[in-house]
Amino acid sequence: MTEWSTWLADEAATVAFGEALGAQLSLHSDCISVHLDGDLGAGKTTLTRGVLRYFGHTGAVKSPTYTLVEGYELAPRWLYHFDLYRLGDPEELEYMGIRDYFTDRSICLIEWPERGAGILPEPDLVASLKVQAGGRLVMLEAHSKIGFAVLHAVQGSIDADAGPGSSSNI
Ligand code: ADP
Ligand code: MG
Repeated sequence: MTEWSTWLADEAATVAFGEALGAQLSLHSDCISVHLDGDLGAGKTTLTRGVLRYFGHTGAVKSPTYTLVEGYELAPRWLYHFDLYRLGDPEELEYMGIRDYFTDRSICLIEWPERGAGILPEPDLVASLKVQAGGRLVMLEAHSKIGFAVLHAVQGSIDADAGPGSSSNI
């Protein structure tokens, strides 16, 4: 498994990271699933806001804590933001027709994916966030060929921005 981490100094950096991730996700045309790991307050929704912003959504992003999923039609893609924090049982995903959300046009960003274990499809990419030194450490792990391509491209775009001599690797 390939993984890579970088440190995000503040909220704006988390949004920018989400935008960089969105830019790379947009280059693919298959269904892509991104799991977002981390405690409450780690920055999962903030990162999602960055991804949605890249795809052209400028409004607020509220966590769909009670509805479990919020869809955004951002042509040519559909982005689905899941928050499974309140999911009682993974079986509930069957009742909501979870498979219908994973189409060729969809990019699924899933907070609290562990609550849907056994029913949710395997992710292409996992982004884990944790509080570190007043900011956030984000780690990407690739779980598929697309995930691998996206991870490397995000790493390349962020290292290029940081300039020569600096490294975002931990
Ligand atoms: P989660 O969805 O993981 O529960 P949120 O995205 O709602 O977390 O973010 C929680 C808080 O963390 C927000 O107040 C946000 O401003 C803050 N935050 C996000 N990224 C960073 C960062 N890199 N450094 C410091 N604070 C951050
Ligand atoms: Mg959240």
